[in-house]
Amino acid sequence: MKIGIIGGTGFYNLLDDMQEKTVYTEYGEVTVFQAYYEGKEVTFLPRHGKYHDTLAPFVNYRANMMALKELGIQRILAFSAVGAINPDIQVGSLSLLDQFVDFTTREKTYGKFSVDITEPFCPELQETYRNSAELIDEPLRVGTKLICVDGPRYETKAEVQLFGKWGMDVVGMTNATEASLARELGICYAVVTLATNMAPGVTETKPSLKAHKAVSESKKEKVKELMLEAIKQAGERQKCSCPEAYERAVLANS
Ligand SMILES: [Zn+2]
Repeated sequence: MKIGIIGGTGFYNLLDDMQEKTVYTEYGEVTVFQAYYEGKEVTFLPRHGKYHDTLAPFVNYRANMMALKELGIQRILAFSAVGAINPDIQVGSLSLLDQFVDFTTREKTYGKFSVDITEPFCPELQETYRNSAELIDEPLRVGTKLICVDGPRYETKAEVQLFGKWGMDVVGMTNATEASLARELGICYAVVTLATNMAPGVTETKPSLKAHKAVSESKKEKVKELMLEAIKQAGERQKCSCPEAYERAVLANS
């Protein structure tokens, strides 16, 4: 079985002896790292590029997701850092995304057909994440709503107040785009987020890359444990409908 992992810093040592590979897609080249774990072929895709230097609005999302598709990956476990809007979410805590509102203006479709995204994340992989968190005894907030913004700037106080009134729990810059493209490609996709700061206006502390890195670093081992457990727990696709729209589109074009 093949599993894709999308994450940021701190994942290079997820597994020993990961082999670097370049995947060429019609949208661009993508660098991935591969190794075997628990009998599964694991492909790690560093979202912000090999050198972590591509900011969220400039990530080539279409190439990233297409590269995983071309490697034959049907299931992706993703991980992201976010800002917490909901004051009940503490800095350093993990949340499982359930819904999103997409405020981004970037390229976020392959433009071939309209896809059903009523439930944007794979219910089976969400279950995998919930079970894995329980097994490693790490609290995981469920039912989390993300508002996805372009970035790279952080949000204004008024934006965060508005997002909060809309019932949004966390703010991030990447996952709505990945989820939409995954669905278009018929790939299962689910995300756990780490709150690395309270969103602007929720607290007086200003968001910064330094604070974000410090929280990520302090949580690194637990996140690694969760991801390894999730890889172990993830099974082949059972009954989820993630591939349906894609399969229908392929049939219609054949
Ligand atoms: Zn699925």
